[in-house]
Amino acid sequence: MVEYYNGEEVMQFISKCPVDGCTNTKDINWEHTGCSLKEYINDEGYIMCPNCNKKIHFFDDRFNCGFHENYKPPTRNSQRIIVSFALLGRLQSSGGKKFIRKLLNSLIDQCDD
Ligand SMILES: [Zn+2]
Ligand SMILES: [Zn+2]
Repeated sequence: MVEYYNGEEVMQFISKCPVDGCTNTKDINWEHTGCSLKEYINDEGYIMCPNCNKKIHFFDDRFNCGFHENYKPPTRNSQRIIVSFALLGRLQSSGGKKFIRKLLNSLIDQCDD
């Protein structure tokens, strides 16, 4: 569902762990470590924490789902990105489709393939 945060359209940041080689297949409702609040993502791929006002682009962030010891950068593989965000797409009513399309296009543009 599209919500508003600081005047922009955002969604709850739900994805599979985007780290290359990670074997965790669960969808994760990510929260900011230390803040324990659910993060948002906007349609340009910026991740936001409503507690500390963190705002960082998906590709500049680091992820740890618990299946690996360290925080690691996300994949730059476009197919992996599409799979990672599949649930967010399925959760959308027609109003959110435009949001998801713009988010995916933005992320895929920054992939290596
Ligand atoms: Zn935070
Ligand atoms: Zn992982």
